Amino acid sequence: MTAPQFDNSYIALPARFFAAAAPAGSPNPQLLALNRPLAARLGLDADWLAGPEGLAMLAGNALPPGAASIAQAYAGHQFGQLTPQLGDGRALLIGEVVAPDGKRFDLQLKGSGPTAFSRQGDGLAWLGPVLREYLDSEFMAAMRVPTTRALAAAATGGIVQREALLPGGILTRVAASHIRVGTFEYFALRGDVEALRALTDHVIQRHFPQAQNPLQLLQAVVAAQAALIAQWMALGFIHGVMNTDNMAVSGETIDYGPAAFMDGYHPDMVFSSIDRRGRYAWAQQPQVAVWNLAQFASCLIPLMGEDEEKAVEEATRAVHAFPQIYQAAWARRFAAKIGLPPSDVAIELVNRLLDLMATSQADFTRSFAGLADGSARDEFLDRADFDAWAADWRAAGPDAALMAAANPLRIPRNHRIEEAIQAAVAGDMAPFQRLEAALTHPFEARPEWADLSRAPAPSERVLRTFCGT
Ligand code: AMP
Ligand code: MG
Repeated sequence: MTAPQFDNSYIALPARFFAAAAPAGSPNPQLLALNRPLAARLGLDADWLAGPEGLAMLAGNALPPGAASIAQAYAGHQFGQLTPQLGDGRALLIGEVVAPDGKRFDLQLKGSGPTAFSRQGDGLAWLGPVLREYLDSEFMAAMRVPTTRALAAAATGGIVQREALLPGGILTRVAASHIRVGTFEYFALRGDVEALRALTDHVIQRHFPQAQNPLQLLQAVVAAQAALIAQWMALGFIHGVMNTDNMAVSGETIDYGPAAFMDGYHPDMVFSSIDRRGRYAWAQQPQVAVWNLAQFASCLIPLMGEDEEKAVEEATRAVHAFPQIYQAAWARRFAAKIGLPPSDVAIELVNRLLDLMATSQADFTRSFAGLADGSARDEFLDRADFDAWAADWRAAGPDAALMAAANPLRIPRNHRIEEAIQAAVAGDMAPFQRLEAALTHPFEARPEWADLSRAPAPSERVLRTFCGT
């Protein structure tokens, strides 16, 4: 049994990048979920993690030798408004590990107590958002969508005050890094070019070693985000709070908060209780990504040479490359969902299908997954319209294997997650475990999981989600 061997690089950056803090500790910790396949992928000893020293780490009671325990500084545009100082208010980077394949990962405790960046917050999380992020992010990973991951969920045994008194939890989050667009903004708006240079070098070395300069870094981040958002769209995923502090420069999905997967398809769908104007609606996500990337680009301009006009021009061009990269990725993903290679014909068929789906508020996941066995037809109010579409679609010669590989049978449906959370709060982890197993095998049809493919009944529908606070 061995403790994680930390190899910390972020802590070698200048002191103004972070604030040291110790986790608050858990009065009566309990390990609720441990992700053994992820532990293996990281080269961590799952038996150590499940043992007393492992639980002490995952619950923030005692960190093993070599741990870092720092809160990272960052700023961010929240709903378009700049907040100069956010930072990890309820999370601690406890260290980096290098996996057997040489990839470097952050281990972070989320919900581990206050830090220098907590402002009015308590630094805590309750079990609900911890378990929700666990399921959402592990489903995304199973779908091969770049994402932070969940190594463990622990109950602290403490109580967190929200709209009610709720049981506290800590998520151990794994990420390629937790460096955000907002991390760059933090230094840019302080005019700290030296820090920007150090951060840029760190990010290039860590995530985009092929980039030779800040412009190439920008181009790589634009490409990564365009590919990522296309994958979100193809799953009916709505991030919910695409603030610049919730956009990782690595290209991973981060900070699930009020995130949700659509049941009935509507392009303007919004779940988050705080997104009153639909800024982060499903269909807005590509445009928002461009807006965020423009903020990122402006942070890099001071590093892009003496000629500022030229730098602005190059940075603008790099951001404007987004639509083309995104469209190509979107076309490939959505064409695959109807079993076709990307082409004008395929795109036309996809758009026609999406229009029919919107008219019927057809279930997003079932409409695509049901094309293979014909059950998709049941999702549409106007069967004749669907039949006309299906005739044209069949004439295009769809490939069943391509389609099957693109369409999950299940998504983390809100009502199922709520159910699992409520059971967990009552001390029963079985629904969570069942959901975890089913969601991490999203293409496997098993009779005992059939009910998890069902859309929510009107009475089961969850229409609002909340930030993880
Ligand atoms: P998020 O909603 O995760 O994007 O968080 C936005 C900002 O609020 C980040 O700086 C968080 O660290 C901070 N924050 C959110 N919840 C809490 C909390 N309960 N205590 C302290 N800081 C928090
Ligand atoms: Mg955040």
